[in-house]
Amino acid sequence: MLNYFRFLDSDYFPSGVTAVLSKKTECNLSRTLPFVVLHLSCLSVFLTGWSPFALYLAISLYFIRMFFVTGFYHRYFSHKTYKTSRVAQAIFAALGTTAVQRGPLWWAAHHRVHHKLADKEGDVHSPVRSGFLWSHIGWMTSDCYMPTDYSKVGDLVRYPELHLINRFDWFFPILMGIAVYCLGEFVGKSHPDWHTNGWQCVSWGIVSTVVLFHATAAINSLAHTVGSQPYSLEDNSRNNFFLALVTMGEGWHNNHHKYPTLVRQGLEWWQIDLTFYLLAALAKLGVIWDLRCTPQSHTETAVFESQPGTREITVANSAK
Ligand SMILES: [Zn+2]
Ligand SMILES: [Zn+2]
Repeated sequence: MLNYFRFLDSDYFPSGVTAVLSKKTECNLSRTLPFVVLHLSCLSVFLTGWSPFALYLAISLYFIRMFFVTGFYHRYFSHKTYKTSRVAQAIFAALGTTAVQRGPLWWAAHHRVHHKLADKEGDVHSPVRSGFLWSHIGWMTSDCYMPTDYSKVGDLVRYPELHLINRFDWFFPILMGIAVYCLGEFVGKSHPDWHTNGWQCVSWGIVSTVVLFHATAAINSLAHTVGSQPYSLEDNSRNNFFLALVTMGEGWHNNHHKYPTLVRQGLEWWQIDLTFYLLAALAKLGVIWDLRCTPQSHTETAVFESQPGTREITVANSAK
């Protein structure tokens, strides 16, 4: 009985984490099942129907959770582009899990490897080396990428609360699902003319989650294949205006690979970066501070605190 529940722990691997991490990089077909189920679940909207309320809720859940991913998972846990309190970082971690993109430490560990080896041998999701489909979704079906490699996130795992949230990354998404159902039931009963209900809102919440997944994954695939390259780098990262709009600023990916520890990714006034604007608002409220807005002494140091030595990136202002 106890063994059954151990599968709820994302750190539990019967053959041991080290053995799984050293497995060959290849698709495990059984790991495509959760993706297939999630995508097929979107068809439930044909059973539950739609309403303006359910649609607005889905769009709101998309943008709110996109910010959790970009503002917290990416710009805080992966790159430490600003500082915050221990309580706030735990809240950021919990909120981030509602995007259903695994735990914050898992996310950050893989993302740090991506920056370290961008489009080179060992990059987790390079469309240049491994093809578009692999970079977009395929890599997540490989056994070797299932565990969290804590050696990449030593600066985060030392907080037991972050480790716990990472291990049980399903907990807050389930809680959110229940909250969405209850909200739909409440609104449906209090405003019968809005023609909504709990299951309808849950169905549209799933659609929102799937679209959110693909928009985030597009940064790994499209933002390394389609767009402009104002900075000449060793990787294939691109700036893409459309992606920047749908991902709240992450589409300025060439800028980001150039300056990975800057809190803002839209560097020109016209490069819309909604995540940065919201983080600036959080800074005004005192929730976060020490936002890194300018390269320091023309030298950026990426966050690989757990690595032997750090990677230095020279950032002379040399646009191509
Ligand atoms: Zn990239
Ligand atoms: Zn990054």
